[in-house]
Amino acid sequence: MAANKKLLILPGDGIGPEVMGEVRRVIDWADKRRHISFDISEDLAGGCAIDTHGVPITDKTMETAMSVDAVLLGAVGGPKWDGIDFNIRPEAGLLRLRKDLELFANLRPALVFNALAEASSLKTELVAGLDIMILRELTGGVYFGEPRGIETLPDGQRRGVNTQVYTTSEIERVARVGFDLARKRDNRLCSVEKANVMESGLLWREVVTELHQAEYSDVELSHMLADNCGMQLVRNPKQFDVIVTDNLFGDMLSDVASMLTGSLGMLPSASLGPADESGRRRAMYEPVHGTAPDIAGQSKANPLATILSYSMMLRYSFDMAEDADLVDKAVENVLDSGLRTGDIMQPGKTLASTGQMGDAVLAELDKLAA
Ligand code: NAD
Repeated sequence: MAANKKLLILPGDGIGPEVMGEVRRVIDWADKRRHISFDISEDLAGGCAIDTHGVPITDKTMETAMSVDAVLLGAVGGPKWDGIDFNIRPEAGLLRLRKDLELFANLRPALVFNALAEASSLKTELVAGLDIMILRELTGGVYFGEPRGIETLPDGQRRGVNTQVYTTSEIERVARVGFDLARKRDNRLCSVEKANVMESGLLWREVVTELHQAEYSDVELSHMLADNCGMQLVRNPKQFDVIVTDNLFGDMLSDVASMLTGSLGMLPSASLGPADESGRRRAMYEPVHGTAPDIAGQSKANPLATILSYSMMLRYSFDMAEDADLVDKAVENVLDSGLRTGDIMQPGKTLASTGQMGDAVLAELDKLAA
């Protein structure tokens, strides 16, 4: 197969290069065994880019990021760069990527592998086999709305102001991603806002309903108030398939949902941009976790969140569901076999290093593809 899928890999700092190293091995495996070739460039982002270039991401790296089909990121930051100027800190590189690629749709699956169900803070039967997707609008809403700021009032009090604001097109484009995602899963979308007390929530509900009627009536749509959704996520999370919500509610609800799984080292994510004429979306895939300075360089990092982010890339950027399923199944089998990195270690299981976890995923892939 021609090497036409362009990929930019940004391993970043701390455990980023360690976990990304295991993804590179999975990519090499796919090349040899499944004839999936990527045209790969690798570059610096975050603290390592500051050390080399004085900025957290260079214009040249950004140019490459804009031209590829997908960006795969490890994690950026660490104590070494903590005191640095706010505008050139490692996270500023990440924010620039998100902004310039217009990544407005953030996908956070909350997937509980049966072998890890006991690690959840909820009862095992509530979360075993959980597979839901939280879709958060990422570039609009109260985090960006104007007016904003802190002002001093005539009576000497100070007042902090932020504005929740959404336009129809912003709502429609994220809802469209939600409906498309639902179609690839269990065909159910739950749209979440506060239409009872916020005009922006009312508009959100109207726009989602109109789009549903016009183009997606085959998908089962429900609406839920954000406070109730928080409650339902911890009461009965398996009732959901895809949840679509705004930036603020999504920030909180995706963190609640990820904690249902009980393990930071297992959580992948995807962020998608607008589609061009050919339907191609800019996209970035990254684990939810950070650079874990406490274990960096010790081969203790769990590479599975990054391997699962790669699998999301296959599914959502390249429509390669079969190959994504293969990776997901290999991860599931490795966990069933009892192998664990330190973050997900349980009594009676076998402790593995980052590389041993990678070895086991490759061995499972070999078996599954045999
Ligand atoms: P963190 O996610 O790096 O670590 C939190 C805890 O989880 C640590 O104890 C760590 O050892 C553990 N952990 C995280 N990922 C793991 C993995 N794959 N395997 C095993 N254990 C894992 O969060 P933090 O400590 O708050 O942040 C550390 C640095 O990472 C900071 O500089 C922060 O700014 C940065 N950060 C970056 C991103 C990103 O690049 N997207 C996200 C979060 C934090």
